[in-house]
Amino acid sequence: MKFRFLGTGGAFDIAYGNSAALVEFKGQTLLLDCGFTVYPTLRQFQLTRGITYILLTHLHNDHTGSLANVLLHCHYFNPNCRPSILYPDDDFRDELYEFLRLQLQKPETYVDFVPLSEVPGITALDTYGLHAEKLQTYAYIFEEPDGDRFVFSGDIGKPEPLFAFLRGMPPKATTVFHDLTFSQENTAHTYYKKLIPLAQDYVLYGYHCDPTQNPEDNPLPLVYHQPELMITSQLEEAHR
Ligand SMILES: [Zn+2]
Ligand SMILES: [Zn+2]
Repeated sequence: MKFRFLGTGGAFDIAYGNSAALVEFKGQTLLLDCGFTVYPTLRQFQLTRGITYILLTHLHNDHTGSLANVLLHCHYFNPNCRPSILYPDDDFRDELYEFLRLQLQKPETYVDFVPLSEVPGITALDTYGLHAEKLQTYAYIFEEPDGDRFVFSGDIGKPEPLFAFLRGMPPKATTVFHDLTFSQENTAHTYYKKLIPLAQDYVLYGYHCDPTQNPEDNPLPLVYHQPELMITSQLEEAHR
């Protein structure tokens, strides 16, 4: 399994792209979140063609803002490319459908909606209300039979429920990609100091932030600084 981030910024950190990743999972490519910078990034590196699945953490614009563009592009320009949106439960499928219906009229023309349970190895953790009041959000846990476990937090204001859930799973080497904020007043994202003790038990990387604001006392590595996790630095290198 391989995570390649398309961006690691927060909602307003457009220089770093909206937080999203391409995940190589069981031989398929899964697009994990699709904010408003994702479509331009996919186009820049000619990456729209290989996407089999799309998985979304929540409906904020920095996670879904270019979803309709990606679907339209695949439909009109990529023969034999029809991504499926994986949905964790029926209520979220209905929200997603309505979100796309306002933009595409008939979303089913462009995309199939497939229950996440049809792709074994991906677990959704319902994190409703932990990011914004009354907002449906999910964290996702990826596991291949003989591989490590990888966790993508989505946007959550506190880390405890996710890590309590992880502790209830069979022990396994686990890498956690966790959103974080460097501002204690920001309750929509996890304050980085709350994550520091958890780095003893997990390989933990922070994302959804502006790396130039990273405080000197933050020991947690950021995804942005890991070239092997950043698709943009890999491909820019290849194009050089
Ligand atoms: Zn966000
Ligand atoms: Zn959000």
